[in-house]
Amino acid sequence: MRIVSVRDGVVPIASAIANAYIDFSKMTASVVAVTVADGGGRQATGYGFNSNGRYAQPGLLKERFIPRLLETSPATLEHADGGLEPAGAWAAMMKNEKPGGHGERSVAVGVLDMALWDAAAKLARKPLWKLLADRYRGGAADETAWIYAAGGYYYPGKDNAALVEEMQRYLDLGYSVVKMKIGGAPGTPLREALKEDVSRIEAVLKLLGGDGSRLCVDVNGRFGLHAALAYGAALEPYRLRWYEEPLDPLDYATHAALAEHYPGPLATGENLFSMQDARNLIRHGGLRPDRDILQFDPALSYGLVEYLRTLSMLEQHGWPARRCVPHGGHQFALNIAVGLGLGGNESYPEVFAPFGGFADATPVQDSRIRLPDAPGIGFEAKASLWAVLKDL
Ligand code: MG
Repeated sequence: MRIVSVRDGVVPIASAIANAYIDFSKMTASVVAVTVADGGGRQATGYGFNSNGRYAQPGLLKERFIPRLLETSPATLEHADGGLEPAGAWAAMMKNEKPGGHGERSVAVGVLDMALWDAAAKLARKPLWKLLADRYRGGAADETAWIYAAGGYYYPGKDNAALVEEMQRYLDLGYSVVKMKIGGAPGTPLREALKEDVSRIEAVLKLLGGDGSRLCVDVNGRFGLHAALAYGAALEPYRLRWYEEPLDPLDYATHAALAEHYPGPLATGENLFSMQDARNLIRHGGLRPDRDILQFDPALSYGLVEYLRTLSMLEQHGWPARRCVPHGGHQFALNIAVGLGLGGNESYPEVFAPFGGFADATPVQDSRIRLPDAPGIGFEAKASLWAVLKDL
């Protein structure tokens, strides 16, 4: 097993949307193609990209991680089942990296890790979800994944009617659970922002038949404890599906304080990029394994090799994998959800094109989706994404 070549590029995922923290008009993504040869004369090319929310990493890829990947010793790439073992490549890429400080390098490694898993599944002539179920779960894969439609961003001039129309489009696509942003009214005093968000939430809930379990709200880490508690008190009667990233993702003690006061499900983790960061959240964040949701995004956090360590850490701490619903809305996490028995995956039907969204021929029914049987992660089955990746 040998790494033959690695190509990389940078593409825009620019969008006019904004959440409570950033606008996405200048966002970019790294894309890579990794070609791997097995001992039997076969080659496969796997593709990877970084999930939305972090920028392209051309410098880190070119200076450190691609050269190290190309030098990976062939013996470390052999899995016991005869296929490609991405963990060997991971160890080579992380040589001479000190612990801690997981910021941007976890994104660069995650892009390459995604491509290695795509190649591993193609060499095994299996979809990735099946390869994962076979290697780690005794062959047991879920038939479908639960997904929900994430949107409800702030656009200039977008009012409640436009927000409700957007959510109606998601329902028309087959989603029954939707997510909207809150806490993003710029420069507005807390009391007024809360009043405006309550009116936005009530407008969407009316569309959902008043069923709070069909609505998630996302703050994108903007609040301090005071605002998080004020919003929490206002949200509690609606019994929402979850209250996402109310606080700074690294402020664990404040999460613990909020969890004491807000009885409904909290969701967080999309901006924690290593097993160690995830473990700190579990140890110190006061979250509750019977209800809270963990959103670590394997594409942003060193890839699936590291995500497997995170799942094992969670198990040791009494957290079932079903409490994980990764951020990012990409096919990589969707394969992981089905193959490793997670609680589901995010989906972005209208934003972050072409990286958001799943295979073209897989309709969503009652917020569940079936995965294609094609070998790999399935990028070739999504025409708009394949048009970008094949240029590599
Ligand atoms: Mg979020």
